[in-house]
Amino acid sequence: MNVYDSTRMSDALARDGYEPTEDMEEADLVLLNTCHIREKAAEKVYSALGRLREMKKKKAADGREMMIGVAGCVAQAEGEEILRRAPAVDVVIGPQTYHRLPEALRQAKLGRRVVDTEYAIEDKFEHLPIADSRKIRARGVTAFLTVQEGCDKFCTFCVVPYTRGSEVSRPVSQIVEEAEKLADSGVREITLLGQNVNAWHGAGPGGEAWSLGDLLYRLAEIPGLARLRYTTSHPRDMDDRLIGAHGDLRALMPYLHLPVQSGSDRILKAMNRRHTAAEYLTLIERIRTVRPDIALSGDFITGFPGETDQDFEDTLRLVEEVRYAQAFSFKYSTRPGTPGAELKDQVPEEIKAERLDRLQALLLKQQQEFAESCIGKEIDLLLEKPGRMLGQLIGRSPWLQSVNVDAKASQIGDIIKVRITGTGTNSLFAERAEAAV
Ligand code: SAH
Ligand code: SF4
Repeated sequence: MNVYDSTRMSDALARDGYEPTEDMEEADLVLLNTCHIREKAAEKVYSALGRLREMKKKKAADGREMMIGVAGCVAQAEGEEILRRAPAVDVVIGPQTYHRLPEALRQAKLGRRVVDTEYAIEDKFEHLPIADSRKIRARGVTAFLTVQEGCDKFCTFCVVPYTRGSEVSRPVSQIVEEAEKLADSGVREITLLGQNVNAWHGAGPGGEAWSLGDLLYRLAEIPGLARLRYTTSHPRDMDDRLIGAHGDLRALMPYLHLPVQSGSDRILKAMNRRHTAAEYLTLIERIRTVRPDIALSGDFITGFPGETDQDFEDTLRLVEEVRYAQAFSFKYSTRPGTPGAELKDQVPEEIKAERLDRLQALLLKQQQEFAESCIGKEIDLLLEKPGRMLGQLIGRSPWLQSVNVDAKASQIGDIIKVRITGTGTNSLFAERAEAAV
């Protein structure tokens, strides 16, 4: 989400003549795009700002200006506090108002420090420019596309509903227009983004109610667009139409990130996830029935307040039962302002860490088993970018793995048949199975 947001900010600033640079020394403007999901995020921002302040001073001594902006969820959460604690900052802008960033920078240039963390009433999507074809091409053959923002779920551990605001769905016409533009510019794979992407809803051409499933059927019709993905989903919002799409649509890749957080009903309830472990497992079974080759990914939290050894064992059991191809797991991190922060029975750090180690060992084992199960399989590979070795490209498997294969640079964007021959640390190796399709 933040990668996508950074791209949109960069597109919005391109109109005023800004260009991205890899070299901070060269920059007239440094924008920190920040995340607030777990603790220490704000502290990291302040220490980065301390370093930037030195750089700004040095440049000023050489008669060069360098503006500093803070964007993202730390900007949203800290607001004015950032200007107070970090005098070198010129602009603080929350995720709801990136379309107003160029104006904020113009104000800052006139010497007025700006804090813009309002929830915009105007449609932020409509006001953000879509990049031109040349830029899209330069960014590669896969792209993100935001369809939904914000969250109304209020899981008791999570700051997202406070930093990103309530759920907003982007209208079908805007999404289709952006997807067509991406496809026309050579993009072969689009990942639809949203904090709760499967809560997306909209209206079809006849005004009928559409869920994410319907949107996927529509996007699958776009010529040139070979692959679709979406992330992140909430188990509560996996409706029949969406599950059906996994069975019907060739373009919808057999990979699903479906966070569960815990395998204990007691903890799930305390987290306000509003489903049980058994309901999650039934859902997984239904999805696997329509799409048996689907690879599953999840998010987990260890040490939520009140989590006992027994609750944690339930999580391990759920993981054993699901068998994940990929996963992300975290120690519970107290977020000020969330109901979780108020709960008694906070779990000691050592126990959180110990449980995380055990969980990660199990998840890693499953990840390796999944990678090894791919050896010998013939798969479609979307060729994405040059590999580390000359004469090689890195492609993406249907299950989101990076795969190295011998291929020419001119083939980037092609989907070829390959046979998986081996596994590396974070990628797979393959050989050509037949000519390009
Ligand atoms: N909307 C998604 C998750 C978005 S946040 C969902 O509902 O599943 C991404 C992940 O960060 C979460 O799935 C959770 O595992 C983790 N996370 C969020 N808040 C956290 C906290 N306070 N402590 C630890 N992990 C957290
Ligand atoms: Fe956070 Fe996801 Fe829960 Fe929303 S659904 S509150 S984003 S964890």
